[in-house]
Parts: sequence; C-alpha cells; structure tokens
Amino acid sequence: MDWTYAPAPESAALANLQPAYRPFLDGQFVDGGGEPLKTTNPATEEVLAEVGTAGPADVDRAVAAARRAYTEVWGPMPGAERAKYLFRIARVVAERSRELAVLETLDNGKPIRESRDIDVPTASAHLFHHAGWADKLGYAGLGPDPRPLGVVGAVIPWNFPLLMAVWKIAPALACGNTIVLKPAETTPLTALVLAGIAADAGLPPGVLNVLPGAGDVGAALVGHQGLDKVAFTGSTEVGKEIQRRLGGTGRRLTLELGGKAANIVYDDAPLDQAVDGVVDGIFFNQGHVCCAGSRLLVQESIAEEFETLLRARIETLRVGDPLDKNTDVGAINSRAQLDRIVDLAAAGDAEGAQRWTSSCALPERGLFFPPTVFSGVEQTMRVAREEIFGPVLSVLTFRTPDEAVAKANNTPYGLSAGVWTEKGAKALWTAQRVRAGVVWANTFNRFDPTAPFGGYRESGFGREGGRIGLEAYLDA
Ligand code: NAD
Repeated sequence: MDWTYAPAPESAALANLQPAYRPFLDGQFVDGGGEPLKTTNPATEEVLAEVGTAGPADVDRAVAAARRAYTEVWGPMPGAERAKYLFRIARVVAERSRELAVLETLDNGKPIRESRDIDVPTASAHLFHHAGWADKLGYAGLGPDPRPLGVVGAVIPWNFPLLMAVWKIAPALACGNTIVLKPAETTPLTALVLAGIAADAGLPPGVLNVLPGAGDVGAALVGHQGLDKVAFTGSTEVGKEIQRRLGGTGRRLTLELGGKAANIVYDDAPLDQAVDGVVDGIFFNQGHVCCAGSRLLVQESIAEEFETLLRARIETLRVGDPLDKNTDVGAINSRAQLDRIVDLAAAGDAEGAQRWTSSCALPERGLFFPPTVFSGVEQTMRVAREEIFGPVLSVLTFRTPDEAVAKANNTPYGLSAGVWTEKGAKALWTAQRVRAGVVWANTFNRFDPTAPFGGYRESGFGREGGRIGLEAYLDA
C-alpha cells in the first residue's frame, strides 16, 4: 500500500469511470443479475447511461463479502489504519470534484453551482471529518469500549446522491463496520464513481459494496438476515414499511425520512435577510430537500409587505440548464416526481389557495416546474400538510409567537425549522418549542459534518453527523 498523498493516476480514474456503471461487489465491478436500467438527464430527458443492476443473488453475495471483510480485515484493523483509507478517499473526492459535480448535475438535475459548491465539498468534508474520528472513538465518550456493529445495509434517495452515500459510508467505515449501499434508481452514477475511488484507494474488497437497482433491490437488502444494521434515507412511507419488517429482528435501524418544515418570520426580522433565507429554504435543489422550508409562517402584520418582497426576489431566480453556472433552479429529477408536484399544486388550487408563479421562462424540453407560491393557505389543505418535494412554497400567517409554534408543530413530521427575528431570546424561545431535529436561527440549510442532523416522529429517528451520529454505528 502506497500511503503517499498523491492523487489517483488519471488513467486509473478514467478506466474506472466506464465499468463503474454496474454493481460494485467484493472489490470489483461485476455484471449483476438484475435487468439493466437507463438513467436519464432530467434537463433533456436523454439517456445518460445504461446501468447494470443487482439481482437477489448479488445481494446475498454482497452481504457475504461484507461479512467476510468485516470479520477478517476491517473489524480487527486499528482505527488509525482505517483512517488512512478514509483520508485518501476524501482527498480524491475533493480532487475529482469537478467531474463528480458535473456527473451529479447531469444525473440529478440540480444546478452545477450547488453540486460544485455544496454537494461535493460537503461530501468530502464529511469523509475528512469521519476519517479523523476513526482512531479516537475510545476518547469520545461513546462508552468504555465502543465496537462496530458489523455489516450495515444502507438505502438512499435521489436528492443528494453522492452526499447521502457519504453520510452512510463515512461513519459506518470510520467505526469499523462494512457496508452494502443501494443508491436510488434515478441517480446511481456518483455512488458508483465513489466505489471506483475507494477501489483506487486500495480499500480492501468487501468493505464497501454498491448495488444499483430499484426498490426491489432495496427491499431485498434491508430484509437480509446477514445485516446487523439498516440505515435508510427516503420517504416516510417506505421507512414505515422497513420499520415494520425489522420489528423483532434485533437489527439496529435508523430512519431519515420526509419533512414539512416551517420557516417562521417574526415582524422584527431583518426582512431582506429573511427573504433570502426563505427563498433558499424552498428553492435550493428545486425543493427536493427533506428539510426544505416548505411552509412559510409569517407574522400577519408584515405578511403583505413580506410577500411582495418575496415575489420580487423569486422573479430574479433563473430556472433552466442545470449545467449553466448562472442557473438557480434546475430540473425536476424524474417524470414521476414532476407529476406528483403538478398534482399537489392542483390540489392547492382546488382547495382554494391562491397560486402565484414566477414569470421566468422555462426551457422547452426537460422536466421543469416554475418557482411557485401558494398564499392564503389553511392548515387543513394538502399543500400545508403533505411533503411536495418540489419548488412550491405554502404561505400561512400567525399573530402571536404561541400561534407560530402551534402551527409549526401541526405536522406529523419533525425534521427542521427556521426562525427569523432580531431578538436572540425570541429565537431561542421558539427553537425550544418547535419539535424539530434542527432549528436554524436567521439562516437555513446550514450543514456541517460536526452537527448532528435528523428528525422526530414521521421524519424518522437517529442522527447523522457529529459525535452522536457515530453512536448509530457503534455497539457502545
Ligand atoms: P423512496 O422512499 O421512494 O426511495 C428511497 C430509496 O428507497 C430508493 O433507493 C428506493 O429505491 C428505495 N426503496 C423503495 N422501496 C423500497 C422498499 N420497499 N424497501 C427498501 N428500499 C426501497 O424516496 P425517494 O422518493 O427516493 O426520496 C425522497 C424522500 O426521501 C423524501 O420523502 C425525502 O424527504 C426523503 N429524504 C430524507 C432525508 C433525511 O435526511 N431525512 C434526506 C433526503 C431525502
């Protein structure tokens, strides 16, 4: 093993790219037993790549490979040695960030500005952070003798494909577990390139396995008896099903599910800053964000003024080609997701909310939906209750802080919230009462590998990031 800090040779990187679009199992890209799937560029609806998928036998082989790697190599390996592999993977992700950002944008539809400045740097930061933990687990108050759990099965969604993969892989490997990961069917590419990077870094075979495929592969994986832990990020519906299936098996489970976050704007808020935060809160990544601030709760006395400022700001958003670095709002990831957004917006019309849409022209082809605001929304309406997972903001009003908190909490979810006020005490008062895993004050969508992220109630349980995030991968 060469532990110098040199990047992976260019030729190896390129060689890994093409064969990467098939299952990565026991250290190799293999022909899976599943039907190949085509992943498309949502901005054009053109086929981007044909991807080999895993069949049931591949799930068995991957779990067996992960078990062997755990027992023979990775589990017994000193943390300081594991750290070297993770540092190397982190470095190569940073070094290949342009390629990863372009690939992510092509596969997902998100603006290149976001994949370049947020997704990929946050992914490498997460890897660096967890590499640093690998030899310090015993000093971190995680119990007298924290041990890995064993083999982890992880299933992730399509909204932050590389980042979600890393959120599972980095803590699992840092703690000494091995992992079998299933990326989402519409966005498998960057997780497979990451597997190639891990192979280039010399990661022992079986420590990381990536199985592309649809929900049936995910179901076969999470139900596999050879796992010690399941980590799932995705919809509340599938999360509940997984929880039912794992009941009584003794396997550890963490669920990161949906949300319907409130962004609370008090009348003493710095308005321009709040407008920017509300816009970022809902239109970042086309609103395909579990913690999106999809419900604006604005104090009645400033509601009219705030909505006027909000619409003017939204009018400046450029919707279009995700590869154009000036684009603010990219493409909707799939036809199915676009249909869902169209249906829920129609429900908003039918239930009497007033729809306002940005006048920005949309591209003639591809999957796009304009930034949209529903005003006069009542709590009973579907646009106030259901996760739309698109660029649609629902505006509700309140008179008092108590009413703001009551409305914010009137949801089965509990993932995130925002509060905007110039008074620190009021921000803290609100944050303590809103039942959400994260409450941002005078900001939104801030992520850091040191800060745990996760929800309550129908948003799931378990935390990712920070010291607490490690507990989910340790028998401490
Ligand atoms: P989804 O639940 O449909 O799919 C998520 C993943 O689960 C995919 O890989 C899919 O193939 C797989 N899957 C589908 N059926 C399965 C089954 N029966 N058993 C096992 N795996 C199965 O969700 P989605 O539409 O891909 O993602 C959007 C959802 O993810 C939203 O609800 C969003 O809020 C949530 N999400 C949550 C977080 C968080 O951290 N809380 C982060 C990102 C996304």
